[in-house]
Amino acid sequence: MRALVLEKKLELSLRDIDLPNEIGPDDVKIKMHTVGICGSDIHYYEHGKIGQWKVNQPMVLGHEGSGTITDVGKNEKILKIGDRVCVEPQIVSKKTKEYKLGIYNYDQAVKFWATPPIHGCLTPEVIFPGDMVFKIPENISYSEGAMVEPIAVGMQAVTKASIKPGQIGLVLGCGPIGLVTALAALAGGCSTVYIADIVSEKLETCEHYPDLIPIDLTKEKLSERIMKDTNGWGVDRFFECSGAVKAYESIFTCCSPGALVVLVGNNAEPVPMDWAVLFSKGLEFQTVHRYSHQYEPSIRLLASGKINVKPMITHTFNFEESVEAFERAAEHRPSDIKLQIRIDQENS
Ligand SMILES: [Zn+2]
Repeated sequence: MRALVLEKKLELSLRDIDLPNEIGPDDVKIKMHTVGICGSDIHYYEHGKIGQWKVNQPMVLGHEGSGTITDVGKNEKILKIGDRVCVEPQIVSKKTKEYKLGIYNYDQAVKFWATPPIHGCLTPEVIFPGDMVFKIPENISYSEGAMVEPIAVGMQAVTKASIKPGQIGLVLGCGPIGLVTALAALAGGCSTVYIADIVSEKLETCEHYPDLIPIDLTKEKLSERIMKDTNGWGVDRFFECSGAVKAYESIFTCCSPGALVVLVGNNAEPVPMDWAVLFSKGLEFQTVHRYSHQYEPSIRLLASGKINVKPMITHTFNFEESVEAFERAAEHRPSDIKLQIRIDQENS
């Protein structure tokens, strides 16, 4: 089957590759419609690895996918041929302790799309366990359906933040994950969410979201603005979504006493911590690694309009343009938020 294959670092091809086409009793077959390009896909393309995961053999990219069911295994009771769906791209064993505890995202043996050596979904047809495939309602487009994967990351962050109604949030980093985290925080009860970035163009998206307050770090000092707006109290919930070591300094200067900090952007390097401030303010920390049980609530918030991702989808390429799409993504243009690849031209 034709697929977008990462041969090795900086080498992509759209070519035929052997992929499974036998449908098991618990599986469904999906005609892929739209696949979003994730920061991790770009990272594998540019660097050939992320932390411990190295691309040692050709791998199909893509893990943010939506499509249409074209076949179902004999045990599948919920999904039917013709259903419009999105896919939670991780296959987990039901026997692990992590699964039983509801934290299957920490299962070390998880098979996650486009994480070496597991092939991703940038191909016209995939087979996947039906219990990780979720129906999307008619009012959600395939393009929005492919955004459920990044939304799930934001939802995991906000779930871990245990937001109380009316709290003030601050998100560092205005990329796709920062934005979906901010929108999930608003949907989860924050009255106001600030979002800060060092790239001015990225913050322009906030004009579509009246309750999201952009802070341009090239023009304003973050802690001064936060303390001025909160009468010297600080923010209740802090979400680090930039992955920049420098961003951690803002935790100490922007958080209120008792604030909860959620670390979403993963750092490859050790980060210095001002422990005296952490102790004296009683700050709590949570971390996010992918997500568990976030697809259904994410789809409901999309369908209700409480989370609107349309302004984030800034460019769509055809499947035949997949290599160009990745070259464009690797340019890291500040005005590009989410680039997607449309595989299925028949269904709208
Ligand atoms: Zn992703």
